[in-house]
This record gives sequence, C-alpha cells and structure tokens, in this order.
Amino acid sequence: MSVVTVERKVLEKNDQVADIIRGQFKRQNIIALNLLSSPGSGKTTLLERTLELLSGHIISAVIEGDVQTDIDAQRIAKHHVPVVQIVTNGGCHLDAMLVRDALAELPLDGVQMLFIENVGNLVCPASYDLGENYKVVIVSTTEGDDKPVKYPKMFRVANVCVLSKIDLLDHVDFDIDRFKAHARMINPDLLFFATSAETGDGFDKWTDWLRQLLKMRSL
Ligand code: MG
Ligand code: ZN
Repeated sequence: MSVVTVERKVLEKNDQVADIIRGQFKRQNIIALNLLSSPGSGKTTLLERTLELLSGHIISAVIEGDVQTDIDAQRIAKHHVPVVQIVTNGGCHLDAMLVRDALAELPLDGVQMLFIENVGNLVCPASYDLGENYKVVIVSTTEGDDKPVKYPKMFRVANVCVLSKIDLLDHVDFDIDRFKAHARMINPDLLFFATSAETGDGFDKWTDWLRQLLKMRSL
C-alpha cells in the first residue's frame, strides 16, 4: 500500500468525523471557528482580547491545540470560558477525532461560539476539516508579507484572514497591499481584518463581524 493511499484513508476518516461534528454544531446552534497560523503569530493573544470583547455578548468556548503544555489553555481559562486543551504530543495539526474527544469534555450548554486554536503550522492543518464553519488564518506583520505565496493552500481554504501586530508595521518590512493582493490572487473571497492586540486597533471590526455571524444564524 502506498503512502499516498494511507494518507487518503486518514483524510477520508477525518472528513467523516468532521461531518458528524458539523451536524452536532448545527443541532446545538454553535458557530465554530478554526484558528490557523504559524507559531508566534499571536493567535492566543488575539483570542484572549476577542473573548474579553465578546464577554457579555456572546457565550464562547475554546479548544486549545498545542504540541506540548497547557500554557495557552491556562491563559484562556482566566477569561472564565470553558476550555479544553488538546496536547498532540508532537502531532503537527488537529484532526476531527481529537476535536470530537475534546468536545465530549466541554460543557457546551448555551455556548454560541466555539474557537478552536489549531497547532501553530501553516501546512497540514489546511487539509484537516474539523467540522468548523469558518477557517481563520492569522498572520503577523513580523512574519513577512510572502506567506500567501509560500503557503497557498492555507489561503485557498481560509474564509477569513486576520493580520495581527499592525502596531509594528513601521518597524518591519511588510507591505499590506502586496500581502492582500497575493492572498486575493489565491482566494478572491478572502475577508480581511487588520488588528493590534497592543493598541486594540481593528478589534471593533473583527468582533462586529463575529457578532454579525450570530445575528445571521438566528435569522
Ligand atoms: Mg497559542
Ligand atoms: Zn500535521
């Protein structure tokens, strides 16, 4: 049996479980977002700030995916939202089976929005459907504006792109227009937000969009 065949079987199994999870989210009226990025893009910080702003408006829960440690889950728990940590023990992505197991431990009663913070990696997480409604790719200005060109698949499958650390734009070689142009060449429908967790810039638009998702759902 070739390696390609094994991988296809793994993905088929993943997609079956992802469909079951999608059905569960639909029944429970949960909007799920899969947060994807390379390590150090500021995913957890973005999430912390987002949870602060959504508090009192949207009931949220979080699944944290990391290769090791529950440091990020501890950070999230301080915001008084239900959180489960998945430690992949070296695994470089989350799959639907891991998310299914995490969901079984998460108190989802009344939860309206679930954030799944994937393992920091712009390659294989793009191939694994987790049953989410939206894939959000987060790119920080310190990473360089060539990410869409280098990781086209991630930008093709993403629905939303959040640019983080825009307060550093004056200090780094990052051209927002070039970045957007490259990303839109790959995915013309990609929605953009530009944020700084440091100054709070852009978080109003980003959280407005999240609230809008909920309104659209309840129509
Ligand atoms: Mg993190
Ligand atoms: Zn992987």
